[in-house]
Amino acid sequence: MHAAGRRTCWPMRRRRKAVARRAEQAAGRLLAEAGEVVAPVDVERLAAHLGVVISRSTFRDGDVSGMLVRQDGRSPVVGVNDAHSSHRQRFTIAHEFGHLLLHPGREVVLDRPVRVNLRDKTSSTATDREEIEANAFAASLLMPADLVRSELQRLPAVVRQDPDRSAAALAARFEVSDSAMGFRLINLGLVS
Ligand SMILES: [Zn+2]
Repeated sequence: MHAAGRRTCWPMRRRRKAVARRAEQAAGRLLAEAGEVVAPVDVERLAAHLGVVISRSTFRDGDVSGMLVRQDGRSPVVGVNDAHSSHRQRFTIAHEFGHLLLHPGREVVLDRPVRVNLRDKTSSTATDREEIEANAFAASLLMPADLVRSELQRLPAVVRQDPDRSAAALAARFEVSDSAMGFRLINLGLVS
C-alpha cells in the first residue's frame, strides 16, 4: 500500500520541482537582463523591456484577473483588471509574463483566480500545469530568492522570529500579498 503510494507520488513531486526550477530560472534571466535588482520589482519596467503593453481596465467579468493577447506583428498585450488590489495586479502582470515567456502557442490566455489544488487529480492537465508554472514564475519574479533572503536578514530579530510578522514586513517591502510572501518563505525554506 505504502510502496504503491510512493510510486505514484514521487514522479509528480519531481515534475513539480522541475517546473518550479524552470520558472525560477526564467524569472532570474529576465530580472538579470532588465537589471532589476531592488525590491519592489518594477513590473512596468519589465513590460517595457519585454515590449509588452499593459492595459488596465475594469473587466465586466469581475472574476477575471488578467489576460494575455498575442498577435503576429503586434506587441503582446497584458490586460489587468484594475478593480483588484494593486498587489494582486502586480502578481497578475507577472503571471502573464510567465505565460508569455514559457508557454508559446495560445493566442489568448484568460485568467480567472487560480483555484488549482495541487493535490487534485485535475492539476495534471496541461492547462493546470501551465497555471502552476505561471504562478511559480510570478512568485520568483516578484520575490527573487536572493533579495528575499537579504531583506529577511535585515529585519529586526524580534520580527524574524515570527513567520507571520516576517511575511507581512517583507510583503510590504516587495509589494505582494502577505499570503504570497508567506508561501514564498516556506518554498524557499526560510521559515518552517
Ligand atoms: Zn494563467
